[in-house]
This record gives sequence, C-alpha cells and structure tokens, in this order.
Amino acid sequence: MPSLAAGSALAPWAAHDDQSRGRLYPEPPAHPRSEFQRDRDRIIHCGAFRRLMYKTQVFVNHEGDMYRTRLTHSLEVSQIGRSVAVALGLNEHLTEAICLAHDLGHTPFGHAGQEALNDCMREHGGFEHNLQSLRVVDKLEEKYAEFPGLNLCFETREGILKHCSRRNARELGELGERFLDRQQPGLEAQLANLADEIAYNNHDVDDGLRAGMISIEQLCELEIFNTCYQEVVAKYPELIERTVIHETVRCMINHVVCDLIENTRRELDRVSPASIDDVRRHGKSMLDMSAGVGKAHRELKRFLRQTLYSHERVRRMTDKADRIMRSLFSCYMSRPDLLSERLGSVGEGAAEETRARAVADYIAGMTDRFALGEYQRLIEPGDER
Ligand code: MG
Repeated sequence: MPSLAAGSALAPWAAHDDQSRGRLYPEPPAHPRSEFQRDRDRIIHCGAFRRLMYKTQVFVNHEGDMYRTRLTHSLEVSQIGRSVAVALGLNEHLTEAICLAHDLGHTPFGHAGQEALNDCMREHGGFEHNLQSLRVVDKLEEKYAEFPGLNLCFETREGILKHCSRRNARELGELGERFLDRQQPGLEAQLANLADEIAYNNHDVDDGLRAGMISIEQLCELEIFNTCYQEVVAKYPELIERTVIHETVRCMINHVVCDLIENTRRELDRVSPASIDDVRRHGKSMLDMSAGVGKAHRELKRFLRQTLYSHERVRRMTDKADRIMRSLFSCYMSRPDLLSERLGSVGEGAAEETRARAVADYIAGMTDRFALGEYQRLIEPGDER
C-alpha cells in the first residue's frame, strides 16, 4: 500500500480539503474546522436531520422505542463508514457528513411513503428520495442569510446523490455528469453507500428478531448468520438469547467490515489511484467486499426482502401509509394554502407542476407522526386513533 502523505492521515485517493471542487456559493475558509467538518456540522444542525428521529426505517415509530428510526440508522451508517474510512486513509469527516445526510430526503413511513409519493408525482417529474436529500441540502433548508440550503461542498453533494436518472442528471450540471459519463464518485461516497447497506442488513436482523417477525432458525439457513451464531453459542453457552443475538450481529458486521477493508486495500494497491479524480475516472468501484462475502451479504439482503420487508405486519403499515400519503397529496393540491408559509406561497396560483413539487417537498419533510396528525385533522377527523 503506498505510504500516506507526510503529516497527513489522508491517502492520495482520499478527498482532500484543499482539492475540493468547492461550494455553489463561495465562502471564506471554515477555519479552525476543515471544510468537510463544517459540512457535517451544518447537517447535524439542520431541521431535516432532527426530523429523522420520527421517521420510519422499517418499523413505524409507534411500534416501540427499541427499534431503529431513520436517525439511529443514520448514526449507525456513520459509525461503520468512519471506521472503514480511517482504515483506508479516506476522509473521515466527509464520510461522516455523507452518511449523516444520506437519508435526509426520505418521506415518512419508509419505502411505502416514498413509493406512494413517487406515484402521486408521476405526472410531475416523479419523486426520488436521493434527489430529495440533495434538494434538502441545496434548497429547502432555510437557515443561512447568504445562500439557500446548506451550501455544502461538491464532494458531500456528490455522495448524497447516490442514484439519479439520466433525465434528472442532465439538469444537475457538474454534479450530474457522472451518471451521464458512467463514472464513479469519490471513495467516501462509495463507502457511505456500502455502509448504509451493511448497517441496515444487520440492524434489521436485530429489529426483525426483536419483533418476532423472523426467527433464528430461519436465519441459520444463511451461511453468514449461521457461522457467527454457532461461534457465539460455542464460546458462550450460558448467554441469554438477546445477548447471543447482539454478539452474532456484532460478529457479522465485523466480518463484513474487515473483509471490505482488506479487499479494498488490495484493489487500491493494485490500481494505485493518485487522486480522487483518478478514482472517479476508474470504470468500476474500487471499494467492495470480496466475491464470497459480497455474495453472503446479498443473500442476507434477499432474505430480509423476502421475509421481513414483505411481512404481513410491514405490509399492513404499507397499505396505511399509502392511503395517508395519497390523501394528503390530493388535499394539499387542492388547498396549497394549507402548506407551510413558504411552500404555500410557492404553491398558490402556481402552475400545476410547481404546486405539485411544493406539495411533495412539504409531505416528504414530514415525520410519521406529523403526517398521521395532519391526516386525522384534515381528512378523517375521528379516524385512525
Ligand atoms: Mg439509509
């Protein structure tokens, strides 16, 4: 592995502050913080970040206090991302900023909410949560006197925009180019993406078992779970089940993360990119698990999709979320005066497409409980108690 630059923990392939492509609105240096520390801090201080606390990851907020919310999910993603970033000489602060911001554009009620809103927006350009996260940090947060949004660095925005259709990419200028040229984002962005998957794969096992919606017997059919589970039970035969589960999940995360670090180190050694632009130009991702562990990771993902995410209890929530989102959308479309003060002024008297976008921005920003409260207040007073 090439030695790290003198006086710096950052590898040549990392995002370096002084090589950043900068902010949309130039600002004086962030001194004494680094540029990416400033980005992270702006994300933590924004309203959309606080609202993640009451947004569904898989389990709706009122199911109990023990399950992950979008906020605790984002913190776990950030923890995994930062550990790997340090081990690979990547920019820890940038990784942290992207991880913390990656779900800012998520609607209430998890994927069910996103699908319903996308459907409502079909005639008006659609709704996509990655793009919405970017909209939150570029436009919707209103905190600063001199610019809209949070005015984050290019690299942070690049990481937040994980996917994008070619149609939308054409409207995003420099940020959309990689989707048109089929290039990669920086390694910190690639890492945040994988840290997201590693986090939810593992915490959903924990939450799913806690809820009794999947079983240890089912999970033992999966090689990665079974290996770790047998290891834990053999080493600690007296442990209570909850601790066995935690130790097993811990073992799985460790297994995947160590493999990701080792495999990526080998690839970086082989390709030896001299800069973040070398990383971007490289045709395929240099940051990945080995083939075997990648397969086990995808197997677990498939299992969760087939059992937990399509479990009857989750589906019931999906149906209800769908009804709430559609009702709210049509209600606000006919009454834009009910939106927040700013969005209401955008929506009222505007062309249908502009009004629809203002409505989508408003609904997407809601927490589960606020959306439910609005539904009860505006649409079915007396229902849904
Ligand atoms: Mg996520």
